[in-house]
Amino acid sequence: MLNFRDIPIGQKLMVIVMVTTTVALLLAGTGIVIFDSVLFRGYLERDLSALTRIIGDNSTAALSFNDPKAAAETLATLRARSHVVNACVYRPDGTLLATYSRAGATNPCPLPASPHVTDAIRFGAGDLTVSHAIMLDGRRIGTLMLLYDLDEIGERMRLYGGIVIGFVLISGLVAFLLSSQLRAIIATPISQLVRATTSVSETSDYSIRAHKFSGDELGVLVDRFNEMLSGIETRDDTLTKALSDREEALHEAETSRERFRFMAESMPQKIFTATGAGHTDYVNRQLTEFTGLSSGRFRELGWARCIHPDDAEQNIAAWKHSIETGEPFHFQHRLRREDGVYRWHLSRAYAMRDEHGNISMWIGSDTDIHEQKEKEEELRRANEDLQQFAYSASHDLQEPVRNVAIYSELVAMRYKNVVDPEGQKYLEFLTEGGRRLATLINDLLAYTRAGVLEGDVPLIDCTEVLKHTLTGLCEAIRENDAAVTYDPLPEIQMGETHLQQVFQNLIVNSLKYRNEKPPRVHISAARRGAAWLISVQDNGIGIDPQYKEKIFGVFKRLHRDEKYTGTGIGLAICQRVVERYGGRIWVESRPGEGATFFFTIPQSAAASQTAKAESSAG
Ligand code: ADP
Repeated sequence: MLNFRDIPIGQKLMVIVMVTTTVALLLAGTGIVIFDSVLFRGYLERDLSALTRIIGDNSTAALSFNDPKAAAETLATLRARSHVVNACVYRPDGTLLATYSRAGATNPCPLPASPHVTDAIRFGAGDLTVSHAIMLDGRRIGTLMLLYDLDEIGERMRLYGGIVIGFVLISGLVAFLLSSQLRAIIATPISQLVRATTSVSETSDYSIRAHKFSGDELGVLVDRFNEMLSGIETRDDTLTKALSDREEALHEAETSRERFRFMAESMPQKIFTATGAGHTDYVNRQLTEFTGLSSGRFRELGWARCIHPDDAEQNIAAWKHSIETGEPFHFQHRLRREDGVYRWHLSRAYAMRDEHGNISMWIGSDTDIHEQKEKEEELRRANEDLQQFAYSASHDLQEPVRNVAIYSELVAMRYKNVVDPEGQKYLEFLTEGGRRLATLINDLLAYTRAGVLEGDVPLIDCTEVLKHTLTGLCEAIRENDAAVTYDPLPEIQMGETHLQQVFQNLIVNSLKYRNEKPPRVHISAARRGAAWLISVQDNGIGIDPQYKEKIFGVFKRLHRDEKYTGTGIGLAICQRVVERYGGRIWVESRPGEGATFFFTIPQSAAASQTAKAESSAG
């Protein structure tokens, strides 16, 4: 059965109007009928009191003369009132004087009321009993009893009921006709709103608007609905735009990803990408072919499985460090080829960051440096051999050369007067040559020792080392009328002899490569990232910037004249020492403007080891 709630609003309105009208009319009709019956009962009471009084008055003579016939005639006048069932006149002693009964009446005449009761009306179930005391000269001479049926009330109620029903029907019809016309006032805007809502939901076209018919609540509803639609339309437009932008961005991202893959696949290097958390999510063909692992397998096992066990731990630690800090990953490791052979690779990875600065991915490459590494190893060995040879040679030569120098000086001194002037000149050459040879051998020995690190690197006070160096140089400083000043210097991890060598060579050069002005040398230090930066500044002749790298080479000198003597090994020693500690040395200068030599020393032994490893790898 169709639920009332589910029927269309138009019909619902009609039903409501009809039910309301009918109920209202029925209630009104019932009220009228009830009111009328109450009024009628009052009217009947008054009417019957008057009637019994008249009949009683007319019966006084018959009662006085005890004339039943006259009394009966009087009572017979009641025939005109069809609802009088019967009427009786009783003598004071309660005996019946006369009676009247309606034709066909079966009810007996009501018994006389008690002598104390004068006039009374008593309603029964379907009738009414009226008693009237008949008086003469203030004395009760008889009682009139009258029985009246109440059919009249029923008739009236039926009549009124019929009228009410008739009214209800007519009113219902009128209400039906009127409401079927008027319901459109409410139903039309609602169905219009429903139509608009339906088409919006079916077509998702938020430009549709409902038509406003009135300024009442429905009109307000339509306004709000339209406002809501325009809000949704704006939001929908924004959303559509955002979606299309996103799609475009996705497309662009897809294109660049494709481009990246194409590039990665066509490159000779092994390329990989990893998530921000460091999980490999792409490897190129070169890497899968080299390792013999499919890209899925590679991702599943992780690259650590392909790395030589001796390199794995350090490699993982370095990778973790990069993931945590976002610093570039640089590492040399041995990567296992499909056939089980390990080859050296230089692995690098760089973090890509999103607009918030978070790492979105890592892009990395593995470059085969096996040959280079082997050559490096060969070179290192050859270098070591050479160094060993240079060390042994200079060490073994030291004694004979010193002898040559000493004896040539002795000969020059003792036989000065024996040989002719030309011989004396030769002897001077010999002495000078021997001295220079001894210096050269000494410097060479110092150079070969410069790169040797022994045991743990201690923490030393630079100021103390500098002071010690300056004490050794006090004669030269005094001779040159020089001034050496310094700022507070830090404690660094470095061999004392090595730092002294560096300070000594740089300060000696500052005194040596002076101009006419008294030399002014200043040493200072500053932090540079994880290292200390120490500088030695002078006011000497300066260096042409084009030679700023060349001067650090062994035997590289810019001055050959007598004024500036030297072997060309001092700066090479400095460079060797500094680089052994993972540092760097360089000069900034212009001719005539003095020179400033800078060198860095990493602050911790670990940092120095890393720097050293990098410098040897690079
Ligand atoms: P040496 O001093 O024995 O010649 P070095 O290796 O110490 O050798 O120096 C190499 C060259 O660098 C020097 O010959 C000199 O030309 C130049 N040089 C070094 N220090 C300075 C300086 N403080 N001012 C100008 N030139 C310098």
